[in-house]
Amino acid sequence: MAMRANKYVYFFGDGKADGKADMKNLLGGKGANLAEMTNLKIPVPAGFTITTGVCTLYYKNNGKYPKELKSQVEKALARVEKIMGKKFGDPVNPLLVSVRSGARSSMPGMMETVLNVGLTTKTIPGLVKKTNNERFVYDAYRRLMMMYSDVVMEKAAGIESEDGEGIRQKLEHAMERVKRAKGYKSDTDLTVDDLKRLSNEFKEIIKNTLKKDFPDDPQEQLWGGISAVFQSWMGKRAVSYRKIEKIPGDWGTAVNVQAMVFGNTGNESATGVAFTRNPATGEDMFFGEWLPNAQGEDVVAGIRTPNPVNKAGKTDDTRHLPSLEEAMPGVYKQLFAIEKRLERHYKDMQDIEFTIEGGRLWMLQTRVGKRNGQAAIRMAVEMGKTKLITKEMALLRVKPEQIDELLHPSVDPTAEKHAVELAKGLPAGPGGALGKVVFTADDAEAWAKNGEKVILVRNETSPEDVHGMHAAQAILTAKGGMTSHAALVARGWGKCCIVGCSALRIELPKKEIHVNGKILREGDWITLNGTKGRVYEGKLSLLAANPEENPWYKELMKWADQLRTLKVRTNADAPNDATIARKFGAEGIGLCRTEHMFFGPDRIKAVREMILSETVEGRKKALAKLLPFQKEDFLGIFRAMNGLPVTIRLLDPPLHEFLPHTDQELMELSAEMGVSFEELNAKNRSLHEFNPMLGQRGCRLGVTFPEIYEMQVQAIMEAACELSKLKVKVVPEIMIPLVGHVHELERMRAIVVSIAAEVQKRYGRKVPYTVGTMIELPRACVTSDEIATQADFYSFGTNDLTQTVYGLSRDDAGRFLPFYVESGILKEDPFISIDTKGVGAFMRIAVEKGRKVKKGLKMGICGEHGGDPKSVEFCHEIELDYVSCSPFRVPIARLAAAQAAIKEKKK
Ligand code: PEP
Ligand code: MG
Repeated sequence: MAMRANKYVYFFGDGKADGKADMKNLLGGKGANLAEMTNLKIPVPAGFTITTGVCTLYYKNNGKYPKELKSQVEKALARVEKIMGKKFGDPVNPLLVSVRSGARSSMPGMMETVLNVGLTTKTIPGLVKKTNNERFVYDAYRRLMMMYSDVVMEKAAGIESEDGEGIRQKLEHAMERVKRAKGYKSDTDLTVDDLKRLSNEFKEIIKNTLKKDFPDDPQEQLWGGISAVFQSWMGKRAVSYRKIEKIPGDWGTAVNVQAMVFGNTGNESATGVAFTRNPATGEDMFFGEWLPNAQGEDVVAGIRTPNPVNKAGKTDDTRHLPSLEEAMPGVYKQLFAIEKRLERHYKDMQDIEFTIEGGRLWMLQTRVGKRNGQAAIRMAVEMGKTKLITKEMALLRVKPEQIDELLHPSVDPTAEKHAVELAKGLPAGPGGALGKVVFTADDAEAWAKNGEKVILVRNETSPEDVHGMHAAQAILTAKGGMTSHAALVARGWGKCCIVGCSALRIELPKKEIHVNGKILREGDWITLNGTKGRVYEGKLSLLAANPEENPWYKELMKWADQLRTLKVRTNADAPNDATIARKFGAEGIGLCRTEHMFFGPDRIKAVREMILSETVEGRKKALAKLLPFQKEDFLGIFRAMNGLPVTIRLLDPPLHEFLPHTDQELMELSAEMGVSFEELNAKNRSLHEFNPMLGQRGCRLGVTFPEIYEMQVQAIMEAACELSKLKVKVVPEIMIPLVGHVHELERMRAIVVSIAAEVQKRYGRKVPYTVGTMIELPRACVTSDEIATQADFYSFGTNDLTQTVYGLSRDDAGRFLPFYVESGILKEDPFISIDTKGVGAFMRIAVEKGRKVKKGLKMGICGEHGGDPKSVEFCHEIELDYVSCSPFRVPIARLAAAQAAIKEKKK
C-alpha cells in the first residue's frame, strides 16, 4: 500500500473543511475552530491552516520546511482563489490574505499577525479599480508595511530594538507627524494623498532602518509572514507567557492563511470582538465592542476607543456611543443568531471576532473565552441550571484557583467615598488593589522581587509586558478597550485591571503621570477599584471578600459538596482562623500547631524558663504557668469548631527556636529573666544542633521531656471536660508528630492515655478522644503496619515527608529549587504539589499497610499540599478521608475534591 503523503495543510472554505474542532493539537485553536465554523455553514472567509507539526519540524530542521509544504500551500491557495473569485498577486483582481498564528491554547497577542499580504505596486491599481476606494487601498498598504516591517523584517529577523525605537514606532511617529501637521484627530482623517506620501516615506524609513527594501513580491510577503509566525513561537514574550501559563514549548503554533475581508472599506463596514456572555461578571448577556470603518487591530490594540455592540452593554461612560444594534440592525440580528448558535454548539462561552465588509458579516474567530473567577463560577452555575451542561461539567469548568479570586479583597466603599479620585477607566479586571506606581514591566518585576507592591501603569496594553503584569498587584493603562490584550491577560489571571483611562498623560522618560492637574511619580501609592474602573490617590483600605454573598458560588459549592467524598478540614491554631475556615466550609481542624501558642508575649517567658531549667521539677513549675494559657487556647478553638473534630498536635519544633540568638537579644533576656548572660549563652550552645530538622524535635521532645506533653494533654482534656460540662460537644484528636518507630508512639500514647484518664476522673466526665500520629518520615510509611497498631488516625505531614523522602531541606531548598523548576529538571516544586512518584509512593505504602492491620483507619493530610488541587486529586486517588489546608484554601480544596471524584467516575 502506498504511504499517504504527510498532510501539512488543512483547507477550509465554502461550507467544507478538512479539519474540525477536536483537532486543536494539530491545527491550533484558531484553525480548528475556523474549520468547525465552516462546517457549521457559518460565513468564514476561505483559507487554510499549516499544522503545528510544521512548526516543530521547522525548529528541528533549523528553519527548513518539509519539502511537500510548498506544493500543498499552492494547492490550498488555488482553492481559496477559486472560492473568493480572486487571484493572489493578480494585477486586475488581486486576492489579499491574512497570516496569523494559532497555538493549541490561546495566547492572546503573544504571537504575530500580518494582514493585507499580497498588496504590491502591481496589485494596488487593480484593487483601487475594483473597490473604487483609493483611500482604503493605501490605508491597507500602510498597515501592511507597519505590520510586516515590524513582525517579519525586524522581530523575526532577530533585530532587538530599544523600547520606543523599533521600526513600528518609527513608522507610527511618521504618521503622527502628518496628523499633527494637518491637525487631524484620528487616523481616519488621513487623505489619499497623505497616505500615498506616507507609503513612500515608510519605504524609505524601512530601507534606512533595516537596510532592506520592503518586499514588492506577493509570494515573498506570504512566506515571510509564515516564517515570522513560526519565529514568534520562540519570541521573548511568547516564551515568557508560556512559562507563566505552563504551556509546553514543544507544542508549536499553527499558521492560518485566510482571505482578507475588510472592515475599513467605508461606513457599511465594521469590525468587532464580542463574548457570548460577559467575561467580567459572567452575566448571560451578549457583550462586545465594535468600530465602524476599522480593521480588527484597531479594536484589539485600543488605538480607538470602541463602541458597545448592543444597547444592553452600554454603561454610564459609553451611553453616548452608537451600538451595532442601532447602527446596523440587520447585521446585528445575524450576529446575535450566530453567537447563540456557537455557544449552544460549543456549550461554553465563546470569544468571537467578526468583520462586516460592505454590509456583509464574516466570522473570523471563535474560541472559548477567557474569564475571571467570578464570571467562571456564574457561567458554570447558570449553564448547569439551564441544562446546557451537566452539574459535573459545571464543576469541572471552574479552575480551583479561580475560586481564589472571589476571596480577594475589594476597595472599602466608605474609604472610597472620601478618596481623591484621579481618573476613570474601563473596569477590565474586578477587585481592589493598591501599590506603588511603576512604568515599565521590568521595573514592576524588579520592585516586586524586592517585596514592593506595585501597580504597572502603561500607555498601551502591550503584550511585551506580561512578566511585569504578572508581578504587579494590578494593571492600569491609558488606552485600550475591554478586549485589549492587557484586559484579556489580566482577566485570565483574575487580576485587578483598569484600561482606557484616557485622563492619564504618561510621560515615560520622566516617569510621571499628569492627571487632572496633578503629577504622580514613580513610587507614589495609588489604589484601583477594578470593579468600577476608578483610580484613587494614595492607599485606601481594602475589604476582605465575602463569598457568602455570592449566590452562584454558594450553589457551586453545594454541588461540589454533594459530589465529593474527601472531607476538607483546615489548619488553624487560633479561634479566629478557625471561625473563618468554618465559614469557608471546613469540616474540622486537621492540624492545630501548638507551638504558635508558645510564642505569645504572655507565654514566652514561661517557655524560656522551662527550657533553662535543669531539673524536671523546675520544668514542671514553669510548665504549670503555661497550663492556664494553653487551656484558654483550646477552649477558644473547641468553641469555634463547636462539635467538629479538632486535631491538636503536641509540641514539634526544637526548643532552641524559642530562645533568642544574637548577643544583643540574649543580653536583654538576661536582664529580663535575672539569669546571667553566660548561662543563657551556654544553654544556647548546648541546644545547638547541626541539623535541627532531623534533631531533637517532634515526639523526640516528648520522649526526652515527657512533662511538656503531659502539660499539653492536661490542658486539652481540661478544656474538653469543662466544655462538655457546658454541653458543648468537643472531639479532640491528639496527634504525636515525627514518629519514626512504633515504640515512640507507644510510649507517647501511654502518656496521653494516663493523663486523660486522670483529668477525666477529676472532672467526673467522659469525653471521647483519639490518639493518632503524623506520618512524615519514610520509616513511618514503610513500617505503617506496626505504627497503625498504636494509632487511631494518621495525618500525612507532607512538608516533612517531602523533606525526608527527597533529602531536601525545607529551609534551604529556596536556593536551588526555583532553578530546578525553571530549567525543567523538575516540573513542579515538590513542596507545592506532591511528588506523586516519590513521596506519593511512600504515602501509598503507608495507607496500604496501615489499613491492612486496621481496616478503615482514618487518614488525612495536613501538609501545605492539602490546598493544592493536584495534590488533592492524588489524596482522593489513594483514598484518604480528608485534606486539611489553610482557611482561605478550604473552598479551593472542596472544589478540587469534587473534581477528583468526577474525574474518577469518568475513568
Ligand atoms: C508537615 O510536616 O507536613 C506538617 C504539617 O508539619 P510542619 O509543617 O509543622 O512540620
Ligand atoms: Mg512536620
